[in-house]
Amino acid sequence: MGIALGTFVSADVEIKRQRTLSSPWVHAAMQTFTPDSSVVSDVIPSANYGDRRNNRAPDMIVLHYTGMADAESALTRLCKPGTEVSAHYVVLEDGRIVQCVPEALRAWHAGTSTWGDDTDINSCSIGIEIVNGGHDWGYPNFPARQIAAVIALCRGIMLRRSIARPRVLAHSDVAPHRKKDPGEKFPWRLLANSGVGHWVRPAPIARGTRDGDGLAPGASGPEVVALQEKLAFYGYGAPRNGLYDTATMEIVAAFQRHFRPERVDGVADASTLATLDALIASMPQMPAHLTPLPPHSMT
Ligand SMILES: [Zn+2]
Repeated sequence: MGIALGTFVSADVEIKRQRTLSSPWVHAAMQTFTPDSSVVSDVIPSANYGDRRNNRAPDMIVLHYTGMADAESALTRLCKPGTEVSAHYVVLEDGRIVQCVPEALRAWHAGTSTWGDDTDINSCSIGIEIVNGGHDWGYPNFPARQIAAVIALCRGIMLRRSIARPRVLAHSDVAPHRKKDPGEKFPWRLLANSGVGHWVRPAPIARGTRDGDGLAPGASGPEVVALQEKLAFYGYGAPRNGLYDTATMEIVAAFQRHFRPERVDGVADASTLATLDALIASMPQMPAHLTPLPPHSMT
């Protein structure tokens, strides 16, 4: 059995869009459902979901890329029984949005993840998979119409569920030791321009600096503690041991992928530190002890 996806106006993509997805995972016992969002074009129910634990209402959106060869293989993996993975939404390259799990239920997209005090990210979040081959499949650019669809979808969810802008995150933010998605090409600035996600303009990388210049793996001491406290304040699951260890490096790389994507090397250079300072200074609940000291006050 197959599922015909919606019809659209643009002739050049008509054939692709009317293509029927083979869907061997759909069987009579699987219930379809009414989509939560008005921008959904198709519902393809996933077999992989559960109840949100402790009746937790979602207050976070986690963005992913699918990291597979094409949309069909990604949808099969996300919906077929036994794969133990799923997402609430899948956004195709042409902007079509498929819903696979109702928002009220717990989809299985984040895996072992942490943000702030939350360690069950699947229970507190809505997962959106963006079809893109990712780093294993040439990492293509995200088409504009796909990003427009992600923005429209996120805006609706944020409005309906009163989700704060800083709670729209990358999978790599909540699982920095395992994940890179949606990656350094993902246009967070465009999303922020439309009110989706928290973002500040990255501080420029100083001319003449090279890879590895800055606070780097192997360092230790108060500067590393300060860096770790700032990352943890923002939400990253950073250690606070004063050691620039592998875990710290991976979190700095995740921060760079999201907020300073020009160079993702896990080294806290001046640009990375200044961008992190600007980011947390723009948070409403900025604690005084993390406020960067202005140069003239240092003695
Ligand atoms: Zn992911």
